[in-house]
Amino acid sequence: MAKQTTDIIERSLQSLLGENSFLPELQDEARTKAFRSLTAILSTPNHIHKSYLRIARENGEVVRIPAFRMQHNDTLGPYKGGIRFHESVNEEEIINLAALMTLKNALHEVPFGGGKGGVAINPREYSTRELYRICAKYVQYFTDILGPDKDIPAPDVGTGSREMDWMMSEYKSIHYGKPYLGSFTGKSVLNGGSLGRKEATGKGVYYTLRYLLHDYLIENQQILISSECPYAATALTYWNRPLTMAVQGFGNVGSVLATEAYHCEYINNKVVAVSDRNVTLYNSAGLNIPALVQYTATNLGDLPSTLEQVNAAGIQAEILDREAILYLDVDVLVLAALEDQIRLDNVDQIRSRIIVEGANAPITGEADEILLGKGAVIIPDILANAGGVIVSYFEWLQGRETQYYSEDEVIKQLLNKMKATMNAVYPSYLGTGRSLRQTCYNHAIMKLSTNLYIQGKLF
Ligand code: GLU
Repeated sequence: MAKQTTDIIERSLQSLLGENSFLPELQDEARTKAFRSLTAILSTPNHIHKSYLRIARENGEVVRIPAFRMQHNDTLGPYKGGIRFHESVNEEEIINLAALMTLKNALHEVPFGGGKGGVAINPREYSTRELYRICAKYVQYFTDILGPDKDIPAPDVGTGSREMDWMMSEYKSIHYGKPYLGSFTGKSVLNGGSLGRKEATGKGVYYTLRYLLHDYLIENQQILISSECPYAATALTYWNRPLTMAVQGFGNVGSVLATEAYHCEYINNKVVAVSDRNVTLYNSAGLNIPALVQYTATNLGDLPSTLEQVNAAGIQAEILDREAILYLDVDVLVLAALEDQIRLDNVDQIRSRIIVEGANAPITGEADEILLGKGAVIIPDILANAGGVIVSYFEWLQGRETQYYSEDEVIKQLLNKMKATMNAVYPSYLGTGRSLRQTCYNHAIMKLSTNLYIQGKLF
């Protein structure tokens, strides 16, 4: 597991050890021992599964593709988490992402554990038929460990509803006669998916920002004025002021979030920059997000990256290189691409005071500390980007009942759940001086530790 994740888990347990009102049944020697056990349990995955998928390419050549399913922890329910298709996928990374899923589900009280899968390919280099075979093979190789009550994958970077539909169908064939609708989430709506699932992560990420800068502020102004937490100062500084935003990544998360920001009537914000794997587009007066969404829909997901393409998209924008998005002088920077985007070597160039993690682990541990030292407010991944897994949970429930909810109902329930988490977390964030990330980890770890204790796993 990444050192940064184990470090922060250890820090949480260290601080909880000293809070005798937490798990008061455990005192003295028994307490120290139980907390050591918790560190051991949470900083190691339960299972590591690795296979080399045997795939026949279109040209008749047979290749072996590394594939993983990592199961970090199932204390709160079946393992749950996406499967990513990306050329940089590796064992260490997927274990870390599985651990983040455990914490994310615990934080938001979603009754699942944490898992993650990955296939080390660049999906753009494979034909549709080859991708289908990869999906079917993935399910064949990992079939014994997957299932609606064991481990439930979902989309992640490089995968979407198409891949989940294929995988569910393979699962159904192998486990004929068994329940299968809950075996994969993030499926297409026609195939048992949930309305609102596709947009859930992006909408949830934007909602966390809106809640921080608007809703929570309105209800808690007095507490904020008297708090010394950097959030209080930031929230009050940005209150009712026009905000500029830059969004790194224009995929399923970034494009939805930018659209939400574009239409938002609660915060006076404008998205001045967006980026993808090729380019950053910048316009200080604000970008026409709906036109960009329309352009990407007909151009394999890519933003316009040449002058002709920008004109064809019908937008006004300066074309900058793809890294430029990170260093712009904007109020809010949303990281909705991949992990490790802000690191020790580039952290000094970051100018935004508010950073939102739409992707998982986009800031390294060292960079995080530097940013916090400068007073930045970072809305962490496990808080901000849980919309996907929360609606996955609703999809899983709907599949069990074979009863489906309206899109409005799904989004309403999603935002209510995220709001409940934020209301649970913010008072301790404001009161303790810990970072929001550390506060969220503490909450998640309290939930996991309590359940591990109740389940008799600590002695
Ligand atoms: N891949 C998404 C995540 O990282 C969604 C997982 C899910 O729906 O299970 O949270």
